[in-house]
Amino acid sequence: MTLATGFVDAIRRVVGDAPQVGLHVPDIGEAEKRFVAECLDSTFVSSVGPFVTRFEEEIAAFTGARHAIAVSNGTSALHVSLVLAGVLPGDEVIVPSLSFIATANAVSHAGATPYFIDSDEETMGMSPAALEVALSSLRRDANGLTNPVTGNRVSAIVPMHTLGHPADILGLLTVADACGVPIVEDAAESLGSWVGEKHTGTFGLLGVLSFNGNKIVTTGGGGMILTDDPELARRAKHLTTTAKLPHAWEFEHDEVAWNYRMPNLNAAMGVAQLTKLDGYLAAKREIAARYAANFADIPGLTFMGEPAGTTSNYWLCAVRVDGADLELRDELLRASNDDGLQCRPFWNLLSEQRMYSSCPKGDLTVATRLHASVISIPSSPAILG
Ligand SMILES: *Cc1c(COP(=O)(O)O)cnc(C)c1O
Repeated sequence: MTLATGFVDAIRRVVGDAPQVGLHVPDIGEAEKRFVAECLDSTFVSSVGPFVTRFEEEIAAFTGARHAIAVSNGTSALHVSLVLAGVLPGDEVIVPSLSFIATANAVSHAGATPYFIDSDEETMGMSPAALEVALSSLRRDANGLTNPVTGNRVSAIVPMHTLGHPADILGLLTVADACGVPIVEDAAESLGSWVGEKHTGTFGLLGVLSFNGNKIVTTGGGGMILTDDPELARRAKHLTTTAKLPHAWEFEHDEVAWNYRMPNLNAAMGVAQLTKLDGYLAAKREIAARYAANFADIPGLTFMGEPAGTTSNYWLCAVRVDGADLELRDELLRASNDDGLQCRPFWNLLSEQRMYSSCPKGDLTVATRLHASVISIPSSPAILG
């Protein structure tokens, strides 16, 4: 039996024999239809309406963040969070090279340049050791920390919780705090993931969630900014709603801002989805346990379990091909997709995307290896029926 056959069979033992099995299929049912219909009937379909506030309150309660501000998507949440963290045009922002394109694009939207660093083998998130290397190469001057090679100020760090597995955020905070550089957490993939008792996205100065169609909870499209700081929360709301000054009829705006508010129609769907989040999380833990058991005795393949001390939402379950062999990885991808199992590799490294290929970067040995060896496998809660 080839490794590819073993891979396909192990997935099939968990997902059953449906001809097509998606990577992560949204679960839309009666609750979504009821809340969206209620929203339509109210005529409050746009950015003002009770579902937006309710969705924000429920996300704040679930994550333990003091404030949650609903926006149009995860990318806009990251963009505004970077601006609020003090990122200015011409700055550099440290991000993991192994991430979805949105992490780097948000840095560009803020007028800054991404500085790519390596990931950690166990968490698949930004490596605290790599962060320490990057920060210790900077020069301290009147502006703060400057990259001596480019002459640009380094003003924020954006770790990402990869596939829902928490990064070593405590290790990263220790390194970042020692240099006084703020952390904005890209928690787009990690709603329902905790480090100890604290939710991902609530460790940094700001954190962001995404509710895109493939995420664990979807609003069609949507995002959320999390922060404990009341002033940052007030600014986040202001900047995402065109910076309009409150008045009964006058249109006065006090700065150039964005129309990034989440529409009530999307929030209605989010409120419905949240009633099912605990069920999704339980289902995904069970799916992960079944995969772990089925991959346990296949030499050459390792199921990626949650990092020690954390609870992962197992947004996308993933398997590592030992040896980081791109050809072998692609053979497994071909065999599984040919069999109707939607499996996906990691994103191409951000530092290798054409727009970002000349940006500053550190050593990327681990990110390169993870990219060549990790495959995401079908992870919808509906797999359990
Ligand atoms: C999904 C995602 C985002 C945000 O995506 P949107 O589609 O803009 O909501 C950001 N970063 C990562 C790592 C993501 O997976």
